[in-house]
Amino acid sequence: MPTLRFHAIKESLSNKPVLVEENERRSKLFGQNVFNENTMRQYLTKDAFMGVMNAVKFGKKIDRSLADQVSSSMKDWALSKGVTHYTHWFQPLTGTTAEKHDAFFETVGDGIAIEKFGGDQLVQQEPDASSFPHGGIRNTFEARGYTAWDPTSPAFVYGTTLCIPTIFVAYTGEALDYKTPLLRALQAVDAAATEVCKYFDKNVKKVTSSLGWEQEYFLIDKALATSRPDITLTGRTLLGHSSAKGQQLDDHYFGSIPTRAFNFMRELETECVLLGIPVKTRHNEVAPNQFELAPIFEEANLAVDHNSLLMDVMGRIASKHNLKVLLHEKPFAGINGSGKHNNWSLSTDTGVNLLAPGKTPMSNLQFLTFFINTIKAVHEHEELLRASIASASNDHRLGANEAPPAIISVFIGQQLTKVLEELEGVTKGKLSPEEKTELKLNVVGKIPDVLLDNTDRNRTSPFAFTGNKFEFRAVGSLANCGNPMTILNTIVAKQLQDFKVEVDKLIDKKDLKKDEAIFNVLREYIKSTKSILFEGNGYGKEWEVEAKKRGLSNNKTTPEALKAKISDNTIKLFEEMNVMSSIETKARYEIEMEAYIMHIQIEGRVLGDIARNHIVPTAVKYQNVLIENVKGLKEIFDKKFTTVSKEQINLIEEISSHIEGINSNVTKMINERKKANTLEDVEKKALAYCNDVKPLFDDIRYHCDKLELLVDDEIWPLTKYRELLFTR
Ligand code: ADP
Ligand code: MG
Repeated sequence: MPTLRFHAIKESLSNKPVLVEENERRSKLFGQNVFNENTMRQYLTKDAFMGVMNAVKFGKKIDRSLADQVSSSMKDWALSKGVTHYTHWFQPLTGTTAEKHDAFFETVGDGIAIEKFGGDQLVQQEPDASSFPHGGIRNTFEARGYTAWDPTSPAFVYGTTLCIPTIFVAYTGEALDYKTPLLRALQAVDAAATEVCKYFDKNVKKVTSSLGWEQEYFLIDKALATSRPDITLTGRTLLGHSSAKGQQLDDHYFGSIPTRAFNFMRELETECVLLGIPVKTRHNEVAPNQFELAPIFEEANLAVDHNSLLMDVMGRIASKHNLKVLLHEKPFAGINGSGKHNNWSLSTDTGVNLLAPGKTPMSNLQFLTFFINTIKAVHEHEELLRASIASASNDHRLGANEAPPAIISVFIGQQLTKVLEELEGVTKGKLSPEEKTELKLNVVGKIPDVLLDNTDRNRTSPFAFTGNKFEFRAVGSLANCGNPMTILNTIVAKQLQDFKVEVDKLIDKKDLKKDEAIFNVLREYIKSTKSILFEGNGYGKEWEVEAKKRGLSNNKTTPEALKAKISDNTIKLFEEMNVMSSIETKARYEIEMEAYIMHIQIEGRVLGDIARNHIVPTAVKYQNVLIENVKGLKEIFDKKFTTVSKEQINLIEEISSHIEGINSNVTKMINERKKANTLEDVEKKALAYCNDVKPLFDDIRYHCDKLELLVDDEIWPLTKYRELLFTR
């Protein structure tokens, strides 16, 4: 009987590209399925429109009667697009998006039915919270949770459903999702940054944080993916010998996009554009069948929603094209994994990017202020920033000699390094008029307004300044950006707040002029944050040694990294910045640790099953063929038998030793799992899974992969790397 693998290969070869028509300009399609400002102008009364805009721009409350008006118009708009259902769309801590659809349809007696959608349904819903991760919050009070409309992210139509972006909180008010703390962090950074901006421009009333993510992913044939139980259940290959050709030739990166992938991208992009996701860039990545998609950056809350939505839409559209998207950070051993660079900056309501150098010395001082404060924030909270991107799947990149290391450092490039060196020499206290002029003309004034082309690109840095933004590169491809964005914006908010206090103190107590005070504080920051700046090779062993000397953390695994999320400092920080209560912070830690345990547990089970129930029987089957062969040789050759059967006998022995290797290691792994499962304490349990269970994966895999090289290709049950990676 042919294996599942051969069925899958046959099916994959018969797949024809799905043709995609594109008749309309994208600029015309953009946002057509979004209840955005433009649509609202058409559908809402003037009062309702102003009400929503005030909520969006200034966080004003939307009252009942207004909500009724908005919901009714939203319904009319949705019905005009053939929509039948609505859902509150939210991002629970599972990492995916959640929705529960309700029909607009309602009966009103006497066999009459109408389409109804009231303000109540728009503003608040009550999904059962008990099956979502809650980290113990639910147990303390009651199971109920509710979703509440987030007017800052516009409603959209996907398929035949009206989706309303919402926050998800427990009945007692604690956040149960990624969005709630993010919104609070964005508020915190707005408040703190706006205050600091006032040193430079009194007209600034609001600062927004922007995010431009770059999503990497693998795209493989669906039939082939489905033939692999590990990909189906864990999103990655747990075994598989590397293909003779991988990425050595660098012939995939920026190469011409294969037709099937291209058609998928076109359809995906059209859907994205309709949904208001401003997708812009697409290209091949380094590894075979690896690609990247990036939009134009947006306000961070919207960008996070759009990334979550994108990940969902990608899966659905891929399926239509008989493809499967792998968002896992490391689907294949031996070739590059996938990340999600988070490009981040702050900008004012007066249209200034605070992380872009300006044209005048004053605007450059403003730039330096935000630039140096960001460095300082990362310096103070590097361990927490590392924790913000910790997950079982991202551990395969961070700390595993791939992509950015687990050590957080900041790369700023030669030019800015020089500027900081000069600023470090600024006199303490009052500055002489000469020094001021010198600073204005030759230091601050000399920062070119376009740094973009001058910042050297260091691909190994986890947090790099790239001309007009910082690029947080260590985020995982599978991650919800809400988590790192909450933490980054919170630490910057805290830092800016502290900065303001220090500067004001110098102005009041030491009678310094505003810019003197700023120079004084920045000088001290430059001195005290040097250990976080690193321009060298982040992959090198030398860096690990050097980083240790500098006192930087190097938490290579998730259980180690996550500890920073519940340190006293972190709890205090989140409380002080009104981002999370101590209950929320602790709950999140529990949830993330549990998720880690669960992932490793599932991987262990799947690997054990494949190794024992797929690989070992296949190896035995092939070994029996060899044994039969040897028996036959003996009959025919008699005396010369040992010479002619030598290789077969070696093979038989070799296969036996690998079978033994698999069985003993699977047994060991099962025992370690059992031991780990008896541990009550979540930290101890996660560490046991990390240090005792997971290392056995490599041993099991080693023997399986060796067998792949020995056993007859025709009976090998698992689709091989070369088939997964080179079928296009
Ligand atoms: P790459 O890193 O691939 O070389 P770029 O450095 O040009 O590409 O940056 C790509 C991403 O950076 C895009 O998603 C873009 O929208 C985003 N980006 C550009 N400017 C900003 C900004 N001011 N704030 C946030 N993101 C930005
Ligand atoms: Mg980038």
